Amino acid sequence: MSLNKGRILIADDEMVNIKVLVATLSDYETVIAKTGEHAVIKAQASQPPDLILLDINMPGMDGYEVCRILKNNPASCSIPIIFITVQASVEDETKGLEMGAVDYISKPFSPGIVRARVANHIELKQQRDLLEKLNVTDPLTKIANRRRMDDYLMTSFAQAKRSKSDMSLLMVDIDNFKPLNDLAGHGYGDECLYQVAQAIEQSLSRPNDLAARFGGEEFCVILPATELKCAREIAEEVRKNIESLQLHHPDENIERVTVSIGCSAIDDSMSEAIALFKQADEKLYEAKEIGRNCVV
Ligand code: GH3
Ligand code: MG
Ligand code: MG
Repeated sequence: MSLNKGRILIADDEMVNIKVLVATLSDYETVIAKTGEHAVIKAQASQPPDLILLDINMPGMDGYEVCRILKNNPASCSIPIIFITVQASVEDETKGLEMGAVDYISKPFSPGIVRARVANHIELKQQRDLLEKLNVTDPLTKIANRRRMDDYLMTSFAQAKRSKSDMSLLMVDIDNFKPLNDLAGHGYGDECLYQVAQAIEQSLSRPNDLAARFGGEEFCVILPATELKCAREIAEEVRKNIESLQLHHPDENIERVTVSIGCSAIDDSMSEAIALFKQADEKLYEAKEIGRNCVV
């Protein structure tokens, strides 16, 4: 049995129906919910399903209501839903599809048809997820790209302003990267960019922290709910972790790849995210001025 083909949430109030579907879909990892309320919780859990097979007639919250709730929440709106039900009038099917379901299967069903439709929708979902990931990932370093960074900076800044909470930003720039490229070639330069980006990302521990490639050999770290003192400690950790990679620098006077980091934190005078950004950039400039491989 292969479980990495995808994860399916089966929501039905009748155990016998669940058992038949679980057996029919034994190639997949299946998660079950016996009420609409549980279906919503499991669909929005930290490991969401790739597809939901949803019964319409359930006591309490019915399938239509589950569908409406999931489609109205950004965390679950992209999970495809297939209604699977005895209620198979044209009106019911139309209503289900209009609510955002991708398909409608009537009971009693043919196991072969269920497997084929499930396979199609899971494949489409996984292709969509891959495209979404590529859209926000920097191809060279495999961390978030500039597009993702801009979006996240705007959202986090607005959130911090609304809730009057802390937020910090780090600008990380590789020291003496031009001579590294010139002396060792772009292939080695690219490898260093990848190693440095990965080390930055691995230095972060909170789920809301984001490391992104800003451009060239510059990176940005967004730290929601983090005050300046704590941001500087994280920056120092990033700096040390990169120094410990001991990446060779081809200039004999430099020896090792290092970074300089500028830190800034939100304050009352800042009305736009760009201010946070400009301040971190100024601090980065200071770090370069005082000799590189340091945090300001
Ligand atoms: P400083 O210590 O002041 O930051 O100096 P620096 O040499 O690192 O800074 P500078 O901005 O002069 O050089 C950045 C270099 O980064 C220039 C460019 O060739 C290189 N670079 C930018 N993007 C890439 C990339 O995708 N791959 C590689 N290999 N090099 C890149
Ligand atoms: Mg630079
Ligand atoms: Mg540089």
